[in-house]
Amino acid sequence: MGTRFTRPVVAAMGGYVPGEQPQDRRYVKLNTNENPYPPSPKVIEAVRAAAGDDLRLYPDPLANTLRDRAAAIYGLRRENILVGNGSDDLLNLIVRACVGDGDRVVYPYPTYSLYDTLVTLQEGESVHIAYPADFCLPSGLVQARGRVTFICHPNSPSGTAVPIEAIRALAEQVAGLLVVDEAYVDFADANALALVHAYDNVVVLRTFSKSFSLAGMRIGLAFAAPSIIDELSKVKDSYNVTRLSIVAGTAALADYAWMEANVARIRRTRERLTKELLERGFLVLPSQSNFVLARRPGRNQEVVYHGLKGRGILVRYFSVPELADALRITVGTEAEVDALLAAMDALPIDDVVAAR
Ligand code: PMP
Repeated sequence: MGTRFTRPVVAAMGGYVPGEQPQDRRYVKLNTNENPYPPSPKVIEAVRAAAGDDLRLYPDPLANTLRDRAAAIYGLRRENILVGNGSDDLLNLIVRACVGDGDRVVYPYPTYSLYDTLVTLQEGESVHIAYPADFCLPSGLVQARGRVTFICHPNSPSGTAVPIEAIRALAEQVAGLLVVDEAYVDFADANALALVHAYDNVVVLRTFSKSFSLAGMRIGLAFAAPSIIDELSKVKDSYNVTRLSIVAGTAALADYAWMEANVARIRRTRERLTKELLERGFLVLPSQSNFVLARRPGRNQEVVYHGLKGRGILVRYFSVPELADALRITVGTEAEVDALLAAMDALPIDDVVAAR
């Protein structure tokens, strides 16, 4: 690996590995936390209407129609909002803007592994503070003195949330920027958005990829004090969000009830999936997301992952030691959950119960 043309850090790194996106056969796809339900018909209609001659023109660099709609929905001002090409784009902007050579970036671990990749690229130092078994917030986050601290809320891959008061306490105590990655928060009981009003060192990130069923459009929002938004804007691509994405995001917010109805369905199926997995002997933490982490402590689950894949069901297996005994399973439709459970029950009993 590596070439003499790239920076040593790039040549030495593995690169972020996204979940599988198979383009060949059809799977019941429960591996990358997409929404099993389609986006609002009003979104499709708006995108169709926008797919015309105006595509020859650049999009609005700041996506102000979407910012204004989001400001009205979330009770902030346009100046508090930055639109990204997915929230990954916003994470990238934050790390590029804030992290330089040797700067510490602190987060509980295991969590969304893109953070590691972004910090490595900046030649910063990732400081992992291990989550306890129940995934409540570990102590030591403040003492680690990060230039940036990330909290993934709810956390991936555990699916768990923490009390907002615990996040507020961090906002008050951390020396640097606190980034609350709320990609999955629409599936949770509570969110941290109000902290943006109260603290000038907090960024809250949201995405349209999960609750709004728009992973294919790549739309994310950052909420923060105007001074932070201005700084991040300096780093972004001039036209980081396409015309069609701006239209789709604006229309999705206008049909907020569609998202809420899908979230309600997914939350109901999540409870059923959790119960069924518990009955099969998995340990499942209470999820506040559109996925669950199913564990068999001490038993490697790679064989189960492959067994399910062979039966047309794709779930997520992470090949890191901390998660070797776990599968992350997206909450699909009721029928998809039926198919998952049937495939699981058809696996050789040794694989499911005694995998080692
Ligand atoms: N944050 C977390 C925790 C995620 O799991 C994801 C999805 N992989 C993202 C951010 C990025 O989502 P997107 O770029 O699709 O908005």
